[in-house]
Amino acid sequence: MSAYLPRALLFALLIGLVALPLGYFATPWMGWSLFCIGLGLQLAWHTRNFSRLERWSRQPLLDASLEGDGEWDSVFRRLYSHEKELLGKIAQRERDIARLIAAVHAMNDGVVLLDSHFRIQFCNKTAERQLGLDAQSDRGSALTHIVRPPELIDYLAQGDFARPLILRLERHFERVLSLYVIAYAENSWLLQVKDVTQTDQLDRMRRDFVANVSHELRTPLTVLAGFLETLQEIDFDAAERSHYLGLMAEQSTRMLSIVQDLLTLSSIESAPPPENDPVDMASLLDKLKRDAEALSDGRHRIVVERTGQGDLCGHEPELVSAFGNLVANAVRYTPAGGTVTLSWKVSPHGAEFAVRDTGIGIDAKHIPRLTERFYRVDRGRSRDAGGTGLGLAIAKHSLNRHQAQLEITSQIGQGSCFTARFPASRVVLADSPAAVIGKK
Ligand code: ADP
Repeated sequence: MSAYLPRALLFALLIGLVALPLGYFATPWMGWSLFCIGLGLQLAWHTRNFSRLERWSRQPLLDASLEGDGEWDSVFRRLYSHEKELLGKIAQRERDIARLIAAVHAMNDGVVLLDSHFRIQFCNKTAERQLGLDAQSDRGSALTHIVRPPELIDYLAQGDFARPLILRLERHFERVLSLYVIAYAENSWLLQVKDVTQTDQLDRMRRDFVANVSHELRTPLTVLAGFLETLQEIDFDAAERSHYLGLMAEQSTRMLSIVQDLLTLSSIESAPPPENDPVDMASLLDKLKRDAEALSDGRHRIVVERTGQGDLCGHEPELVSAFGNLVANAVRYTPAGGTVTLSWKVSPHGAEFAVRDTGIGIDAKHIPRLTERFYRVDRGRSRDAGGTGLGLAIAKHSLNRHQAQLEITSQIGQGSCFTARFPASRVVLADSPAAVIGKK
């Protein structure tokens, strides 16, 4: 503006200088007229530029620069560049905020921003899923009107957020959430929601496992301790003594089997992924048949069927343990006179090892839980058959490590069939080079 004033004055002086002699030497009205015309022109010029500015200020267009005349031009130029800078900063801020919001939405944890009355101000997509919120329609609603478990209402009412709240929500399945309430600004709360369902399940499984192991070992230990006490207190004759010692040996064998199976399970769990060595299925089937015959002691017919030529790739001891458990179960849960069939089928799509029996069968309701550790359909029968309740857990684990699926079908009184399906990547067809190398 400082550069503008002298020029405006200069222009007024110039008009004055022309108008004064004209008024003096010609007629005064001519001088006044010229002076007024000069001022009028200047006014029109200012008005024109001012209306340009006014038009532009209503909706500043940064792609078209603001043009003016004379001093107005430099004023417009500065205004234009300030506006451009300002709008540029605003656009950058908006981009930053959008990026921040996108990052909050992408988080694995739920985030809900609440006001001092725990009304929802914002929530990310994870929180929408976890708590069943709707970011748009629930905005401004009290959190406890939408998420209603009484423990959440009490937790927010108490106002002590030193420890997180563990919330169990039952929808399609039980979901366990850990809720943290954090003060992040004046009268504003941030609710962070972590899904701890998996950790909770693992914790529960670990607790159940420890309880199960303790229970499984306590029973034979109690029996053993009882017999020891009896032997110490009562003077038995040699025959009775040997009878009791036999029973004690039975219990210690049982404990040994449980510990052995637990060690097998733990070694499989901590072992690196199984190797890819070719396993000769012909000799493996032979070995399984011989073991089954030894366990059966002539009470069953053991049959081996083979379709297609090919071997498996994997860790032989683990496969022997998995298949051996299936075969042993078939023998143990099939009454004398029954048949146990071991079959090995190879096709271009993969291979399957199946053990079919004509035994007692399993009620359908038990099938989904059979591979859980220590799960038995009939505890007494399993114990009598020398089972530990870990055989199928070991088999499933070993098979999974070989990318195989275990399928169980059964009918009460008719028999059962346990099938391990291997993908083609685990099979070496008889005419492939790997099979030739494997058989050398
Ligand atoms: P166990 O050592 O008790 O046999 P497993 O884990 O091997 O433990 O098997 C779990 C349960 O599954 C067994 O207790 C038994 O009730 C049932 N089961 C397994 N295999 C068979 C089978 N072939 N026929 C009938 N029941 C079976």
